Order: sequence, then C-alpha cells, then structure tokens
Amino acid sequence: SDAFHHVPEIFKSRTPPYEKLINNLSKVQRILNNQPLTLAEKILYSHLVEPEEISGFHNVHDIRGKEYLKLNPDRVAMQDASAQMALLQFMTCGLPETAVPASIHCDHLIVGSEKGAESDLKASISTNQEVFDFLKSCGERYGIQFWGPGSGIIHQIVLENFSVPGLMMLGTDSHTPNAGGLGAIAIGVGGADAVDALTGTPWELKAPKILGVKLTGHLSGWVSPKDIITKLAGMLTVRGGTGFIVEYFGDGVESLSCTGMATICNMGAEIGATTSTFPMQDAHYRYLVSTNREPIAKAAESVNRNFKFLQADEGAEYDQIIELDLNTLEPSVNGPFTPDLSTPISKLAETTKENKWPETISAGLIGSCTNSSYQDMSRAASIIKQAEKAGLKPKIPFFVTPGSEQIRATIERDGLIDVFERNGAVVLANACGPCIGQWDRGKDFDKKETNVILTSFNRNFRARNDGNRNTMNFLTSPDIVTAMIYSGDMNFNPLTQSIKLENGQDFKFDPPVGEELPGKGFIPGRDRFYPELAPKPKADVPVSVSPKSERLQLLEPFKPWDGKELKATVILKVEGKCTTDHISAAGAWLKYKGHLENIAYNTLIGAQNKETGEVNTAYDLDGKPYQIPELMFKWKEEKRPWIVVAEHNYGEGSAREHAALQPRFLNGCIILVKSFARIHETNLKKQGMLPLVFENEADYDKIGSHDEITTKGLIEMVEKEGNNGGILVLQVKKPNGETFDIRCKHTMSKDQIGFFKAGSAINFIGQSKKL
Ligand code: SF4
Repeated sequence: SDAFHHVPEIFKSRTPPYEKLINNLSKVQRILNNQPLTLAEKILYSHLVEPEEISGFHNVHDIRGKEYLKLNPDRVAMQDASAQMALLQFMTCGLPETAVPASIHCDHLIVGSEKGAESDLKASISTNQEVFDFLKSCGERYGIQFWGPGSGIIHQIVLENFSVPGLMMLGTDSHTPNAGGLGAIAIGVGGADAVDALTGTPWELKAPKILGVKLTGHLSGWVSPKDIITKLAGMLTVRGGTGFIVEYFGDGVESLSCTGMATICNMGAEIGATTSTFPMQDAHYRYLVSTNREPIAKAAESVNRNFKFLQADEGAEYDQIIELDLNTLEPSVNGPFTPDLSTPISKLAETTKENKWPETISAGLIGSCTNSSYQDMSRAASIIKQAEKAGLKPKIPFFVTPGSEQIRATIERDGLIDVFERNGAVVLANACGPCIGQWDRGKDFDKKETNVILTSFNRNFRARNDGNRNTMNFLTSPDIVTAMIYSGDMNFNPLTQSIKLENGQDFKFDPPVGEELPGKGFIPGRDRFYPELAPKPKADVPVSVSPKSERLQLLEPFKPWDGKELKATVILKVEGKCTTDHISAAGAWLKYKGHLENIAYNTLIGAQNKETGEVNTAYDLDGKPYQIPELMFKWKEEKRPWIVVAEHNYGEGSAREHAALQPRFLNGCIILVKSFARIHETNLKKQGMLPLVFENEADYDKIGSHDEITTKGLIEMVEKEGNNGGILVLQVKKPNGETFDIRCKHTMSKDQIGFFKAGSAINFIGQSKKL
C-alpha cells in the first residue's frame, strides 16, 4: 500500500525492485541473527542471487574480504569505447535481448578543441561513424538505450536518469561509482563482467571490506565536495581503498548536495575503492524530484522510512573508520601525475618552488563527469562574474565541459553559458574530450613541452589529457581552477591573495556561491540527443561488422586450458607504476577499441623495463631489442607463451578490459606482481589468464626476463576449484640453468577456475547457456 508498490509504469524500469530487495535482505538478516549491517552490505546482500548462499555465516566479518558473493545487478551502463568490446562479447552468446535494462553512451570518442562543441561534434561523428552505427544497431537489436554523441557523459546521464538509492548497477567504466552519490552501489567493471549482467548470469564479487568515512562539520566558503575526496586521496593513496567499499556517514553529510556526493564517489576510483556510497538524504529526494523522478523519490523515501533500507543499521561495524572535519578542511590541489599527491592551496606556492614545477599555468579546464553539476557551474560563474565586474580577463585558455545535454541546456537557459563565453571560455561538447586524451590543443602546441594545467577532472596520469607526457595535470575544485585562470600562476592563493588591477587597485575574490539545484528546474535540451526510454529488442535489425574494418573485428574465442601445468617465459619485468594507461594506452588508440588485433599494438607501450630503464622496450632471447608489443606478436607467432612480472597496484586506474584482453590475445598466460588493482585482476581472470601475487615481495628481485616459469600444482588447484584462493608454487629456471621455487598467492574462485578452464568467462557463459 505504500509508494514503492505503486510506481507508475514509465518509471518502473528505472526503480530498483524494492519489494524483492527487502525480502532478500530480511532473509539475510535472519541468517546473520540480525547483526547490524552497513548500508553497502544491505544493498549488496539484497541483490544476492540466493540469499541462502550466506547460510553458515553468522558474522559479517567472516564474509567481508573473504567470500565471493553472487549478485544480480539491476542495470548496466556502457560507454562507447568499452561498449564495443562488451557488445562484441555479448553477441558471441547468441541471446536475443539483454536480461536487465542497459544503456550505451557515446562520450569518449569526441574530441574537444578551441573550435567548440558543434564543430568538434561534427568532426568526431564523421571520424567514428562506423563505431557509432555499430553501437546504435546493437542498441536496436538487443533493446539497449542508445545515447548518441553529444548527449552527455555516461556518469552524468546515469545520475540524472538511472541512479537511485538502493540500486545496484555495473558500468563498463572505472568512474561508474559516481552513481553512489545518489545512494546506489555502482561498480566499474570490464565488458566481460557487464556480459554477466546482460546475460542474466550471476555476477561474482569478493565481498568488500567496508571503510567508513565519518564527516563532521559543514562545508563553507571555498571548500567544496571535491576537497573531501582530494584530501582523502592524499591520506589513503591510490591503493588505500583497494578491496573496500567506502561508505560515508555523519552529520557532515547533510551539508552536501547530491551532485557533490557524486563527485566524491566518482573519485573513490582514485583511491582504488570498489565503489563508494551515501545513505539516503533529503538532498537525494530533492535531486530526484528536480530531475523529473518524483515517483521514484517517493518510493525510495517510503522504503527507507518503513524499512530503514537506505541507511546503515545502528551499531554497524566498519573495518576502518576515518573522520574528516569539514570545518577545518581546505581546498587541495592534487598532482602531478598521480591523484594522491595532495597539496593544500595554502602550501601550493611553496610546494611548486620546492619541486621546481613550472609556475605558469597553461590552461584551466572545468566540468567533465566529475564536476559539471549545476552547483559547480553556478559557483564557477559566480567567480567569473566577480572578475568581470572588476574588469579582469582570464590570462590563460579556459574550457568548460558540460556533463550532459540536460545540464548544458539548463545552464544556458539560466545565463551561465553566456557568462562563461563572454569571458573567453570555450564550451566544449557534452563529452569526455580533454579528460581522456581527446584534446586537440592546436597545431602549434608542442607535445613535448613541460607545462601545467589545472582541471576539475578526476585523473591525472601522464599523457592522459593531451597526449603529452610532460603535461602536469593538477586536480582541484572547479572553484579553484576558475579563480586561478585570472592569475595563470601556481603561486596565487585566491583565498588570501589579491590580483593587481590595471587601475592599480587590489582585487580579491569573495568565496564562490552557487545553487544546489536550478530554481526553475532542469530542462532536457535538444530533442536530437534523447533516446527512446525503454526500447524493445528488434530481432530483424542487422548488426554488421565488415571483415575489412580497421575499427571493429568479430571475436574469436580463446582456446581452453589444455589440462597441463603452465610453462612460459618472462618477456618483461616492469618497473614501478603500471596503470591500465600503461598497459593499453588511450588517446589515439581509442579508435581501435573494437578491433582486438589492431589495438594490441599498444600493449604495455607505457611500461618501463626494470632491467634497462627503457620505456616500451623488451629483448628477445637473442638479445635483440623490440618494442614490447612487437616482441609479443613475435612470440605469439612462435607459440611461446609468456609472463609479465611487475610491482604494486598493477592495472590501477580504469576498468579497461583491453588491458587484460590484449595480453591474452598475444599469448600471455600469467601476470605475476607484488599487488593488483581489483578490477584489473578480475579482468585478467575473465579472459582466462592467471593473475598471481608474490607471497614474498622480495622474490620480484629474483626473477628476470627470459626466466622460464613452470607452475607446480596448477592441476590440483583446478581440481580443488580454486578454493577461493591459496598458494601456487612456481618453478623458476634462469637462463644459466639455476632453478628454484617461489610461492605465489592466487584468489581464484570456483567460477573463475571455470573461466580459466574454458579459456575465458565468455566461453564459460556460452557453455552454460547451451547446457
Ligand atoms: Fe569521461 Fe573522464 Fe569521466 Fe572517464 S573520467 S567518463 S573519460 S569525463
């Protein structure tokens, strides 16, 4: 009789199945003797395929970090670059439609330049027509919503349309956790994981530990939600969240907008967290109503009021708690080259000098999926208006990326676009653009020049924005970026310092002010950007891939395991940071995302060879140097399986499954590291590879390229169905004949052993659907 029972038909596909979730959860609570649960656990456990699966456990601490959960996500979202491979994999399963609602978003393949949105969009559509046509035809054939180029960035569209408190969704992008800002559990995965959800196969996740972040105090003045997460990134580092869901709580949450919470959850990816989430707030209700989803807001409110479903239980225990007092927080500037190098704005000048970073800033960029909310845009505009009134002009190029057509149209209606443009900003297309290497800085831009940019984006690995390894991207709030464009100088602190005006007077910014939500509500914008709400599959729509295409290639299944111990040669020993950008570079390579063979030519081109210090160089057995992918193609040809050895947090950064598909395609079989980033480790397993971690880190030093590695006990490990992890011994034979054993850890579950045996998760799913 309550609101969650009576959601109008047109909202049903976007409302979590609350009744079923509550039933599931109550079964779990009975099994756990009503032990208090965190919010993250409530959402996860309510999505268990079989709640009885956790029978035998009476304490959440026996589950967290140990057990694998089989889950039924409610929805899937895919961006254009990763959707290609996800859909190529989905196609191999031969199903007529997707098992859950899904959406495709064309955002990553759009270039941003000074020419502005319309011209960039036109050029990008013509360059990528074949791919967009393929994605659109998949959408029509399988009943997946297709959001075309210019409609917006995946995470902003998901927040505006699909995210809801209590939802559990997967997205083929590492910043999918953005949706946690609206109380969902949203996890970034590779295409093969998305295929699990799309085919109705239980999706497996190792139960994360729960990191509680208690926020106290209030945000005010220059301090914004971005500063909460940049501060946390500095405290926790890029590895600190690995294996955790971050759950926020405390009075401080009440001073946050829903979109501010999304910014925080978005950048939880930067600390390696599985995802992040917030308990239901009035701000969530307001945002849902403002984005034209009042019935869903009422359903969520009702389910929370009646069952306290959308908040942690009183007394819930976290594995770790961090407290942050918002009253004492200061804006931070994080970078360069890593998001966890956090400098408070008051120390920026000093730190810049100490590190000899360039003091002149070359460009400022705001917006993207991370920070293009109405609140962000109105605060930035309030800073610009102050400068305009004082007669100040920006000193450096300034770019604004709206996250969606809805936000762009709304800020245009309210005069904010005009404020930006009349003050020299270039408003880019509603797409990723400069955030993901799709930034055309003009023909005069020197791709080697060391320069500093300030962005309100989320990620700042080398070469990510403009393809220049020497561009230092510092991440900060849109407020700080906007104020800094008027000085163009890293020594400037807009909170305390003034700028000299032409008339000799000193001008000092007042703190920014913005509106949480547009007073007149959001408007959808131009019709051409809107897809059908709940498309039905059309079996007669052809999905064609030309065999001559350079952009798309149908997939050949990987070979199953031959039942023997693995024997392989170390092709490369990687030194230091090795992110998914190092393993499968973005930028110009994005165009080959749907063509495995062509994109494999970028495999590990960013990796540094530990033995020689060179980037993108590996040596053949006769000592001849090769570019890394060239040697991998050669060894594939020679049928020589290989191993890569690396250091910590291997594969950090994004959900990019190509970073796992490519090594597998090139005949790699083991990746042996000091530690893995979670998504990448899972992706490797899904592609039938064996990810192993040194039990004793010092063994990394004992292994070198051309060592021959043989597994000892793999057959037994497979027979035991992985046992959810354990030890596997490797025999190492050095080129001089010396032989010794080392012990490695694996985390293979029963299903993952199934993937390994079948050759890949897709083969495994295909086999089980045929049975
Ligand atoms: Fe796009 Fe950048 Fe957001 Fe990724 S992080 S979705 S590339 S805007």
